[in-house]
Amino acid sequence: MKRMLSLRDQRLKEKDRLKPKKKEKKDPGALKEREVPQHPSCLFFQYNTQLGPPYHILVDTNFINFSIKAKLDLVQSMMDCLYAKCIPCITDCVMAEIEKLGQKYRVALRIAKDPRFERLPCTHKGTYADDCLVQRVTQHKCYIVATVDRDLKRRIRKIPGVPIMYISNHR
Ligand SMILES: [Zn+2]
Repeated sequence: MKRMLSLRDQRLKEKDRLKPKKKEKKDPGALKEREVPQHPSCLFFQYNTQLGPPYHILVDTNFINFSIKAKLDLVQSMMDCLYAKCIPCITDCVMAEIEKLGQKYRVALRIAKDPRFERLPCTHKGTYADDCLVQRVTQHKCYIVATVDRDLKRRIRKIPGVPIMYISNHR
């Protein structure tokens, strides 16, 4: 094989020569930034140490409606499911969603206003309840999410350490 001169070789004429690469000057004092999502300290792998009785259960609109259809007492069946005290929680936007449904869903509204339910105030913009619940459980992993909505369940499943409660077969 023929030996070839490197294009940077000094023996080539100046104009044919490949120019030496300029070294990018980097400030050694500059901080290197990386975006790494913080791992929640309450999780031991998949095990969430923040969960425990009394369980705080974020309830969404369709969960209440389904429990009425299935003739389930919401609080009682939650406790039957987990064998522990449960506190159902209703956020402002879920409450607004139920109120918007009107007369036909007045039973749901009455259940949501039950004194055993805890009311969680919302500070976010918008009134989309699904986003609200997802945002809440991402920040605070002390909740169980009760929903029968497939899309919401799919979104919650991606968040580690957040269990889902749902209704099927009247349970
Ligand atoms: Zn909200």
